[in-house]
Amino acid sequence: MTDANDHTQGETSDGVSDNGEADGTGSHELGLDVSPESDGNGSDDPIDEILRDEPDDDTEEASRGLFDDLLSGEPIFEKKEVLRPSYTPRKLPHREDQINNMATILVSALRGDTPSNILIYGKTGTGKTASAKFVSEELESTSTKYEVPCEVEYINCEVTDTQYRVLAQLANKFVDKNRAAIDRTIDEYETILERAREDPQILEGTEFTSRSELRTEIESLTDKRESFTEVPMTGWPTDRVYNSFFDAVDYRERVVVIMLDEIDKLVEKSGDDTLYNLSRMNSELERSRVSIIGISNDLKFTDFLDPRVNSSLGEEEIVFPPYDANQLRDILEARAEIAFKDGALTDDVIPLCAAFAAQEHGDARRALDLLRTAGELAERDDTDHVEEDHVRQAQEKIEIDRVVEVVRTLPQQSKLVLFSIILLEKQGVHNINTGEVYNIYKRLCDEIDADVLTQRRVTDLISELDMLGIVNAVVVSKGRYGRTKEISLSVPLEETETVLLSDSRLGDIEDVQPFVQARFDN
Ligand code: ADP
Ligand code: MG
Repeated sequence: MTDANDHTQGETSDGVSDNGEADGTGSHELGLDVSPESDGNGSDDPIDEILRDEPDDDTEEASRGLFDDLLSGEPIFEKKEVLRPSYTPRKLPHREDQINNMATILVSALRGDTPSNILIYGKTGTGKTASAKFVSEELESTSTKYEVPCEVEYINCEVTDTQYRVLAQLANKFVDKNRAAIDRTIDEYETILERAREDPQILEGTEFTSRSELRTEIESLTDKRESFTEVPMTGWPTDRVYNSFFDAVDYRERVVVIMLDEIDKLVEKSGDDTLYNLSRMNSELERSRVSIIGISNDLKFTDFLDPRVNSSLGEEEIVFPPYDANQLRDILEARAEIAFKDGALTDDVIPLCAAFAAQEHGDARRALDLLRTAGELAERDDTDHVEEDHVRQAQEKIEIDRVVEVVRTLPQQSKLVLFSIILLEKQGVHNINTGEVYNIYKRLCDEIDADVLTQRRVTDLISELDMLGIVNAVVVSKGRYGRTKEISLSVPLEETETVLLSDSRLGDIEDVQPFVQARFDN
């Protein structure tokens, strides 16, 4: 818990110094970036004060204030945003093949044909989202350049995770676009109408023969515009939402590429109806065409798809393999160049980040996190360079942050099971078995009035904790007594306990000693 707080605080104060350095003059951005501190204070804000007083050139001394030292003491980062997940790099080393592959398939959209659907998969942090966004930006800018109607819609299905919401979001995007396009045409026509009043000749250059014809057209466009209504985020029957999307897309000729990122989350949560509906649209659309790019961290999700959906979605498959340590090194070097001050990194830092992240299934996100966190830790140490040891500390910190997050969001029953294991470990019990966990678990449930699950269910919850990497459970054979599990904690005990106790109900358990004692009574 404390760790999580520390982290956020670190970020805020880092943000202050960070941006100030980022662009020499930077006063404007600086003012924005410190908003957590300046919130609601209007002109009393000390930062504002400093900025307003800031001299045009180097007559500084007079105005040195609260934040000046923080600003000047920025020896590590040049532009930290570059290391954050939200930053989209312009260059993606070691993804040339995948990017070219995508482009080769999607280029048909620029020729007015329907590109094959694409399924992209690979583990987290292998550059899928970054590459897909890069390609879609290129596609859209090229389509603008050559004036071919091609549009890309990106949806993150981890956030938008039901059929209703996916369709509603798509519908609303096209409703908005259509309305804006109609508005532009109406404006144009009204100008002509106005000018034609003085000079009827003007109509000769148009498809209209009279002002009244033009007026009728404006009316019909206005009606059309009214027919495109926003879909509310809940409440309509799904087929009405689908029809809205359908009509909005088909309003004019265009090729639409729908990018469904984290598509496995959508299927897991809401089944494959969305994909089924989207993939059969082309047979009914008259003017437009739709093509789908699905991005998944997990290929297994295709097992849950209707075979028709599966073969349609997987017309083309592109795999993003994990990065190896050398590739991660290249990626980090390119980013570090922009993110850090010259000479801020000692030689071992990048190779070590790359090596750690390579162990973590070649995850570039992890590698970047490590590098950024190492930099922040060095900053807090008040040194002007990042060293190997900062990377090791960063690795530990990220691991603890991860555990804290996983444990914090566990369902309550799992928390009780985990708490039981912790209590046993604290008591110095080794090779904890399921029965022992269950006995303590039952008593904890009694104490806080929670439902008591069967031992079978508790065994399942232990397996889940094992899969999350929180405990380690090995099955051992006890000869004719059957088999049992030997369980041990695989995360730091104290931090984990702190997180569990921060749950208000578990925090109510005051004296846990008697429960643990129970183990020896049974
Ligand atoms: P995924 O979608 O596969 O989980 P992302 O595309 O989100 O992975 O990549 C994770 C992070 O790593 C992002 O910050 C991204 O910018 C960065 N990244 C991934 N691959 C590369 C690459 N080849 N070059 C530069 N940065 C990369
Ligand atoms: Mg992604």
